[in-house]
Amino acid sequence: MINWHEALSQWGEIQHNAPLAKRTTMGVGGAARCLFAPYDIAGLAQAMLHIPADMPLLPLGRGSNLLVADEGFEGLVLDVGRLQTYDHDVMTMRAGAGMRMSKLAQKAAQAGLTGIEFMATVPGDIGGGVAMNAGAFGQQVSDCLQQVQLVLRTGQIQTLDAQSLQMCYRSSVLPAGSIVVKADFNLQAGEREAIYERMRMMRQKRRDTQPLEQPNCGSVFKNPTGNYAARLIEHVGLKGHRIGQAQISSRHANFIVNHGQACTKDVLALIRLAQQRVAAVYAIDLETEVCMLGMQS
Ligand SMILES: Cc1cc2nc3c(=O)[nH]c(=O)nc-3n(C[C@H](O)[C@H](O)[C@H](O)COP(=O)(O)OP(=O)(O)OC[C@H]3O[C@@H](n4cnc5c(N)ncnc54)[C@H](O)[C@@H]3O)c2cc1C
Repeated sequence: MINWHEALSQWGEIQHNAPLAKRTTMGVGGAARCLFAPYDIAGLAQAMLHIPADMPLLPLGRGSNLLVADEGFEGLVLDVGRLQTYDHDVMTMRAGAGMRMSKLAQKAAQAGLTGIEFMATVPGDIGGGVAMNAGAFGQQVSDCLQQVQLVLRTGQIQTLDAQSLQMCYRSSVLPAGSIVVKADFNLQAGEREAIYERMRMMRQKRRDTQPLEQPNCGSVFKNPTGNYAARLIEHVGLKGHRIGQAQISSRHANFIVNHGQACTKDVLALIRLAQQRVAAVYAIDLETEVCMLGMQS
């Protein structure tokens, strides 16, 4: 009888003790017990039947919203990066979970379709974008997501309407243990040059305001209703504050940057400090937007 690792290796690549830091844009954190990268959706569905029921699972996209504990992850990371299928008809684009959002935005622009220009500037994949309901510049995934295909923990492949994902500000509710493998977006016809121009402006705005040249994980905190996390952090005097090799960006206070050798402990210390100071001064609880693996959010 073959063990579950051998079974999985039929449907994808499996790696043991897989370092996760280099798979996140922040570049910190320890290793996962195992990492599995399925070749295709059918293989992922088969694999689900062989993964031990008590094994913690983490779907991984581009790791652009993920902070991994220094101790790593005692579970199985499912890297969906190879699920890159793509097709479209007149107004609908269907993309595999592993496609970069920026690539889909380019395809939409080429086809003269509007609604996802913001994706040109968000460094994640389609699956991560759905899971996080990514958004920027007044657009978000839930505005145009029509349906998703999921592989459930049972190995079943299921299609769900976007409405059933209860998508709201930077969150959606997926069935427990499920993996987004494909997403359909309903877009509108637009003027091609105007679409490219909007994408150019969005990119420029980011370059002007965000520390894109240093490793980071995007916005660390959600904006509290009617306020901005960056403004609150700046007002309590923490903009530019540094602990070890991690620093609250002096360009944008809702970003923490890694000066090269940061560890998660330092990033976490900055997160807690910002939460404590903002709570003490403004009685506002800053909720993390970044997904914290192996730590309390
Ligand atoms: C410089 C920078 C700028 C950013 N700007 C923005 C912005 O403007 N707006 C914004 O919304 N975000 C922004 N982000 C954050 C990030 O890019 C988004 O949250 C993005 O949607 C995460 O996608 P990902 O593929 O990297 O997901 P990951 O970081 O890999 O994962 C994030 C979460 O989604 C889950 N997940 C990933 N893939 C799947 C899947 N296939 N099925 C189920 N769950 C899955 C993971 O388990 C994890 O919980 C920024 C990040 C950076 C580094």
